[in-house]
Amino acid sequence: MNSEDCQCPICGHDGLNKKVVTEKFEYKGETFDYPNYVIYQCPSCKEAVVDKKSMKESGRAIRDFYRQVDGLLTSKEIYRIRKFKLCLTQDKASEVLGGGAKSFARYENNEVIQSKPMDNLLRILDADPSKLGLIEEKEEVEKASMVITFPLNYNPRKINEMEVNYA
Ligand SMILES: [Zn+2]
Repeated sequence: MNSEDCQCPICGHDGLNKKVVTEKFEYKGETFDYPNYVIYQCPSCKEAVVDKKSMKESGRAIRDFYRQVDGLLTSKEIYRIRKFKLCLTQDKASEVLGGGAKSFARYENNEVIQSKPMDNLLRILDADPSKLGLIEEKEEVEKASMVITFPLNYNPRKINEMEVNYA
């Protein structure tokens, strides 16, 4: 975005002034200062447009600020647990621990904030990474059960009768 050939979206004034400011964000009574925040201000009506890159980058930083205020793991902590405690790739972590496709890439890039249950799960695994084995075993069983095929003459009623006999 070139500030000189830009029109003010509010009053239509030609040319906006580029300014680098420290933007203050507030969340649940806590404040967060984000430096090098680029805005384009209209000299006429004083309305400011936020630079797209600043918007995106500050958005990522703000998610870590939200996490800290809410007592959740930051993106760096998630990265540390996933990579050095659990030794999983981002894709594998998403597959085994859940949160949707590419969930760990999104948590670590600060595009998405993890849920409270996911946060709790990661804290437990951080304290005891061996517990990952329990989840992986369950995953293996689920995968194996998906390929079980029943014989063509399989009759569910027979199984029910058997169960009745056992009881
Ligand atoms: Zn204006």
